[in-house]
Amino acid sequence: MANLEKSGHLDAVVTTNVDYLHEIAGNTKVADIWYSFNQNYCTKCGHEFSIDILNQAGVPYCPICGGLISPGPTYHHIGTSKPAIQNAIDWMDQADMVIVIGSNGYYDRINDNVPLVQINPASTEFDRKAMLNIRANADDVLNNYVN
Ligand SMILES: [Zn+2]
Repeated sequence: MANLEKSGHLDAVVTTNVDYLHEIAGNTKVADIWYSFNQNYCTKCGHEFSIDILNQAGVPYCPICGGLISPGPTYHHIGTSKPAIQNAIDWMDQADMVIVIGSNGYYDRINDNVPLVQINPASTEFDRKAMLNIRANADDVLNNYVN
């Protein structure tokens, strides 16, 4: 995915993954709609910290007030990030094409006028919307045909 962005073929990533791996791989425009481990919050004062706060030895505590630090997905109880949701909606509305990879169809907010390609070995709710269904694992498709 990062290679697609670097080559100018991918504008943005919308994900329910919370692992921050898209950003670590090099994607710069990512909507982490369930938050990510790069969004960490003090349980006492609410201050937000990047993933670097987790590099402390032992349990991470807030350098401002001493409160316990909680990763965003846990702090928000797997809630949705309103700014990330808005980015996802805006980006998908402006997209020339949307590629749905490995999703089970839970997040179904894609403009009907935007061509949809799905990469998934299984049948999903996106089958009927997709102009192309590639029945394969994302790793196989992206590693063999994109790089
Ligand atoms: Zn604090």
